[in-house]
Amino acid sequence: MLANQIAAGEVVERPAAVVKELLENSLDAGAQRIRVDVEGGGADLVRVRDDGVGIPADQLALALDRHATSKLASADDLGAIATLGFRGEALPSIASVARVRLVSRAAGAAHGASIAVDGSAEPTSPLPAQHPPGTTVEVRDLFFNTPARRRFLRTARTETMHIENAVRRTALAAPGLGLELWVGDRRVLFARPQGTDSRRWLQQLVGRSFADRAIALHERAGSFGLYGWIDGAGGRAHADVQHLVVNGRPVNDSLLRHAVRSALAPGLVDGRLPAYVLALELPPTGLDVNVHPTKHEVRFHEPRQVHDFIVSTLMAVIAGGQSHADLLGPSDASTSPTERGGSGHGAGVGAYGAPAPADARAGRNPAPHPLAGGLRGVMDSTAPYARGSPALGRWVRELAPGYALTESVDELLVVSVSRLGSACVRAALVWAEQSPPTAAGTTAPAGEDPPALESAWSPHPLLLPHPWALPGAAADQVIAAEATTRAFGLSVRQAAPDELMLLTVPRLLAGIEPVLFVEALGSWLERGADRKAMEDALARLVAQAGARVGSDIVKRWLACCPADVLPDEVARRLDSTALMQWFGD
Ligand code: ADP
Ligand code: MG
Repeated sequence: MLANQIAAGEVVERPAAVVKELLENSLDAGAQRIRVDVEGGGADLVRVRDDGVGIPADQLALALDRHATSKLASADDLGAIATLGFRGEALPSIASVARVRLVSRAAGAAHGASIAVDGSAEPTSPLPAQHPPGTTVEVRDLFFNTPARRRFLRTARTETMHIENAVRRTALAAPGLGLELWVGDRRVLFARPQGTDSRRWLQQLVGRSFADRAIALHERAGSFGLYGWIDGAGGRAHADVQHLVVNGRPVNDSLLRHAVRSALAPGLVDGRLPAYVLALELPPTGLDVNVHPTKHEVRFHEPRQVHDFIVSTLMAVIAGGQSHADLLGPSDASTSPTERGGSGHGAGVGAYGAPAPADARAGRNPAPHPLAGGLRGVMDSTAPYARGSPALGRWVRELAPGYALTESVDELLVVSVSRLGSACVRAALVWAEQSPPTAAGTTAPAGEDPPALESAWSPHPLLLPHPWALPGAAADQVIAAEATTRAFGLSVRQAAPDELMLLTVPRLLAGIEPVLFVEALGSWLERGADRKAMEDALARLVAQAGARVGSDIVKRWLACCPADVLPDEVARRLDSTALMQWFGD
């Protein structure tokens, strides 16, 4: 029990920490609806009721046992922890410094059962109790047996404010959750599960002033994803809307905060603070969540990569105005999430447009976690190119490096990839010239197949920013010519006096090796750094890249290639004339 009290000092610093731990347990239990009641700033009462899987009567006492956790199947699981709690420490710690009552009814059980424990006393044996399926954990008289700690609590108002923040943070990380917070007989927070109207959900949790003006984003690159909202109004007077979620877990991580702040800083009005609600997803093996007992910090295995991904993604979104996802709306993003049939932290689409969480009811260590791994097929930032009716047929296979076999309704074609790329670039340049105000960064309205060329020059974040070493004066010149680079979806940041970082490339050319862009930018600079030089440089880049680009890029180019491109210019038909010529028949 002493060990429990020591652990309680770590885990339970104040009532808000109790609330956080109980909420995490409810989420791990697959709850869809949770009600939190607090009295006396949480020191008198914290009660969390959920509709999760429940605890069988014969396991109630076990739940209060130190290091008893139902959530770790084996040591192998440690690398890919997907539940929120897994140390089996919270309930025993809390129970050692408060009077705790557990009432629960397991799924399928005919009725519920309850046990109670006061501080270091032995728990009572379970008694039958009325309870709907799910669990209620009641924590009364926090620190009643450690008076020194009780004296450290602040006023009920302050502690309640901390509780409200804890509830809000949890709710923001669990978009499918229906949640209520009651302070005495007053309901102070109420979030319906986020359905199709993610902005309303955001309003309920962080208020209108942010929600109504926020820019939504839904960006991914490789196995990384960044979803959520950033302030679109020059910042806020207070640091009250700064929420970060990593793989479904609310965090307060200095690396992430720094990354977000540095990307948003240029858009802030003097003296105002950045505002954001952002969910980062990366493969669970990319981070350790267990570095801090209360888990506000995470440790990334590749911190630099995470940092730069966030900076470049946010810069790209800002440069491009509203993102794709915002215009398409969350319902569009929901085409695949149901695949996993999740009903864990709330069924349906996550507010971040990511798939719903995996089902915690299915067993221990449900993976992947709510927003983790939800990257597959949700929305590809190059999606506009995936549609369209190509004049050059559909991709069949590569014939030789730089040559593709395609198939249209009635013929086979051999396409020269570098010619195809050049034709697309040319068409996109013409398009941009004809409609300059929307050339960069726009996407089509919801429900329509956007003309591919429309977003050809919007920025696409590189997973890893690419360094570009050049003398200081030249670097200054590049930064000064920002208007031109941006118009072509290229964002560059100064990393050192004689080093720049390339953060984004045009969507049309996404996937081409970054080093080729740096070379192209070099020749653009030599030739006067103007628009014309950029057009030449990009045309050359594509012609060069031709034999080296992957099939994804070729497919995108095939789909974007406008109908007025003459097939003869980029392709050869494999028709009877050609075949007869081959064989001299
Ligand atoms: P951990 O969450 O790290 O496993 P806890 O001490 O927080 O440890 O909880 C101990 C155990 O009690 C959990 O592993 C789980 O089996 C059970 N438990 C706690 N809260 C709930 C709940 N709301 N619904 C279902 N089971 C719960
Ligand atoms: Mg727990």
